[in-house]
Amino acid sequence: MNRIVLIIFLVISTHSFARQEKGDGVGNGAGLSENNFVFVYKNFSKYLQYAFLQPKLNFDQKELIILEKISKSLSKEYENKKQLQFINDPNTFKTPFPYERIAVTWDDIGSEIYINKNLLYQTTTGIPRVITISQVLSILLHEFGHHHGIGNGEDNEYFLNQLGAKVAGALLNKIEKRNLNIAPNIYAQYINFNKNSFATFKISDGRKFIDLSSALKNESRCPYSMDELIGVKVWQAHWTRNARLKRHLKLELFLYCSDGSKVRAYGGAEFIVVPTLAMESNVLRIKSTKFGFHPCDPRRGDYCESKNKQAQNYLDTKTFSREEK
Ligand SMILES: [Zn+2]
Repeated sequence: MNRIVLIIFLVISTHSFARQEKGDGVGNGAGLSENNFVFVYKNFSKYLQYAFLQPKLNFDQKELIILEKISKSLSKEYENKKQLQFINDPNTFKTPFPYERIAVTWDDIGSEIYINKNLLYQTTTGIPRVITISQVLSILLHEFGHHHGIGNGEDNEYFLNQLGAKVAGALLNKIEKRNLNIAPNIYAQYINFNKNSFATFKISDGRKFIDLSSALKNESRCPYSMDELIGVKVWQAHWTRNARLKRHLKLELFLYCSDGSKVRAYGGAEFIVVPTLAMESNVLRIKSTKFGFHPCDPRRGDYCESKNKQAQNYLDTKTFSREEK
């Protein structure tokens, strides 16, 4: 009975809310939590593909079916250009639930996903805590799950929470972060996915973040121009000092290049980010960012092809324990 009432409510809600555009659309959210939502939303299929290929996760049949459905319907989800909305209306997140939710959505693929602005920066110590990438992943996975016949019953909520935690847990081990020592609020963060896929990469000054994932993908080139670049991983990242308040971020890359029959991994290339830093109320902030790709060029005598098995193994097996704060 309860379930029937709920379904009716959801159907009505979809129609009554859908046309109102109550919140900010994607890209209008100002803070880091919002940015993390947009970042994960945009890269969702990558995270999902990565989780799929983790044998340790042991998804059961029901989980696999839902994950596959979510994966296959993402392009349809994205057809709603205002799918992700940040809303400041507690009632939206309270009724008919027993407690205030972080997110709500409806039954259909492409339904809006409302994110509760009031819960984006919870604070226990006076310092607001940003919702992290892996938290966002588990929340969005949960909400996408509702688009595939998983209703709001207690068991269903439990199922989606567990599934979200599983997928997010896989990612948690892959997040790498490099803080700038003179200003720990400034950091680079990257995630390496499976072979033959492109790392995501962003830098932040604690107030805004700059998504450099596409720049990394688009600027990178294989040592041999006939080859096709099919993946980029970040092997190492470190900040270098150039002068007072001048720092460069250097990413050492692995490029996965295909000549049509074989894929080879090449080391030796770098992606360099040069942020312009300036003090603002005693905090160092990023004003603007330049970046560039330094190729590995065998014609120049560079040793490009990676014979370094250790580095390869590092990328393939290392688990990381840090998570952005
Ligand atoms: Zn739910």
